[in-house]
Amino acid sequence: MAEEKKTTEYPTLKCLRNFKPHESDIYTPKEMQELNIAMLAERGVTVEDIAKIAYDNQKKYLPDLKEKEMVDSVMEILTKREQFHAILLAVNVDFLAEQGVIMEPLRSILNHDLGLFGLDECIALGISGNYGQIGETNFGHLDVTKPGVISRLNDDPEHDNCFLDDVVGALAAVAAVRVAQNHAVAHPKVVRPHRGMAD
Ligand code: MG
Repeated sequence: MAEEKKTTEYPTLKCLRNFKPHESDIYTPKEMQELNIAMLAERGVTVEDIAKIAYDNQKKYLPDLKEKEMVDSVMEILTKREQFHAILLAVNVDFLAEQGVIMEPLRSILNHDLGLFGLDECIALGISGNYGQIGETNFGHLDVTKPGVISRLNDDPEHDNCFLDDVVGALAAVAAVRVAQNHAVAHPKVVRPHRGMAD
């Protein structure tokens, strides 16, 4: 009698179920963008959700800002490898914690989104730090105010989003920084002289 072949089913996001990894582990910007969008969507986050936070973050400084510009900025940052790795890590850890297949005591810490656990913010700061200190302070502001989809993730009673709420905050923060920097270069403002400076 032929030996029955053992197969192990691992919990997997639907969008990654039949994914065949490249031997090099290197993915093109387009591949990373598509995977990022699919993973985020399956965890309840759209490009527009992130763009809305980034738009609201910048509209008071840039009166002629269009929402489409922020959507384009989010699409651009989703082509980058650092963001791809952070999203992969966030959705994997959150999803596996939710499925109960992470070892204790980490599983309970993630299930309860323990306030003293700060590695979710570390990942988010890793992404936002790539866009300078302004990226980090922008993320810090969104982490405290939790606008839009960030508080929806944070308060979601059915899903573990310990890592994802912070990664989404960081994505919005860096999308906003990109647009702010582009506007500053395109429309440089004249800086007023310091008080006490000679005429
Ligand atoms: Mg968190």
